[in-house]
Amino acid sequence: MSAAKARLAVTVPCLLAAGLPWIIAPRDLSLSPSGGPRPAETRAREDALPLLTLEPATWAPLPTTLCNENGCGVSFLLETPPVDARIVLILSNLAIEPAPAAFMLRAAPDPRPLDPANRPEALERRSLAQTCDNPGQSPPTEPAPANVVPPDETVRRLHWPGIPGRTAPEWIETLQLAVGRRVEVRGPERSPQTLQRAEELRAATEAVLPAVEQLLGPVPDLDGNGGLTLVLAPPLAKVATGGRPLHACVVPHDFEPGRTPPHGNAADLIYINPTENPAAGWKTILAHEAAHAAVCGARAERRLPGLEDWLHEGVAHAVECRAASNENVRERVERYLEETARSPLVLADAMRAGRWRDPGCRGACFLFVDWCLREHGDDWLGRILQTPCGGTDAVAHACRSDFDELYRRWSLHVLAEGGTAWPTRTPAMIPWNIAAPLNLEVAGTSSAFVELECGAGPHDRMWQVEIACGGARRRLQATAVRVFRKKTEAGSERTTP
Ligand SMILES: [Zn+2]
Repeated sequence: MSAAKARLAVTVPCLLAAGLPWIIAPRDLSLSPSGGPRPAETRAREDALPLLTLEPATWAPLPTTLCNENGCGVSFLLETPPVDARIVLILSNLAIEPAPAAFMLRAAPDPRPLDPANRPEALERRSLAQTCDNPGQSPPTEPAPANVVPPDETVRRLHWPGIPGRTAPEWIETLQLAVGRRVEVRGPERSPQTLQRAEELRAATEAVLPAVEQLLGPVPDLDGNGGLTLVLAPPLAKVATGGRPLHACVVPHDFEPGRTPPHGNAADLIYINPTENPAAGWKTILAHEAAHAAVCGARAERRLPGLEDWLHEGVAHAVECRAASNENVRERVERYLEETARSPLVLADAMRAGRWRDPGCRGACFLFVDWCLREHGDDWLGRILQTPCGGTDAVAHACRSDFDELYRRWSLHVLAEGGTAWPTRTPAMIPWNIAAPLNLEVAGTSSAFVELECGAGPHDRMWQVEIACGGARRRLQATAVRVFRKKTEAGSERTTP
């Protein structure tokens, strides 16, 4: 017996004992040793489920299985849903490596008579956890007035470390351009334009910094100048990805005390693109970067390794939404919802994975961290800052839960409401007419949302559904969800209880 088969044989009877719907019997799928199913064209459909709701939710967690060298799979019985309901399968590849895995789905009518004990109405119903309101937009804070102090004429040399393949390392000679209670702005030249820009940046930073520090703790003052240092850095004007300019960034090594250039400036620095104004507004961008600075400082102070990219960016986006606005993530969330199966959540090093600033991946990490915060409260951030764990273990530690189960609950949340606190679309569905097999690809730590088209058969018709995942070291997680049409204001749609 294969390892996957042994695991299924143990796991599924336990699930059956718990009375979970639709899972009738486990059966390994026979995949060819030559590599399993072939990927094929999949169709994403816009706004596939505009009128559906998960209230009350009925969902069936099929077991998460680790593929052996021949792949892995699960099978289960499914009843044709009533006319006002649909079946959605959430197929997730929980392998940490972002490369896609091939999935094959097929279904056949089950000739056995329907066992009343297996009817969905008789089975356990699970509800999604309640979520609290996400403010998204906090009330604007009045910017602190600038301090009237004599200008500091000291020239400070700072080392820009460069971005591989985009800008080379270089020294920047900076002058003080603006100074406030918590922020100093520096740049290479004093012109009327740069002085005005510096004052705008100072005011925007001081407006959002209290909210950021309330969530993440104080940003450390590593260089002893009384607060954050913003640096107008001309090299940033050369950096753009996908037509999107880089407005600002932090360099984690700067926040490690004791480093010297070129290995770090031992200073709390935010580098600013001096030529661009972000559409999302400087308050939002600076809340994002101040969050990075607070995380870098907190981890360095405890001598802990930095957070992995996906978690670091997820935290920064979640904090920027609470301290300023969601203008910087709204488009990224839309991109994620358009292409969930191609947007890995877990990217330890996004640049090395070729996904630096990938909008879909950013949407995913924001939605995941935002969901963790809504589920566990703001204290979750403190636990993430202090966890000695890395990767998905950091999240499991902060949530005190298994990552696989967290991922499943989060993907259900994304299906239910697009995962956001603001009105948005549901994730793009891949339609599957179950009369024919379906092949599709799912990247590591991402999900495909598959909407079943069962035809107009009798309501009690049963189908034997098989899901196979090709390739070794993949991890298949499947969840079957029955979703109901949402009531409209006119009451023209019914909700099945
Ligand atoms: Zn960032």
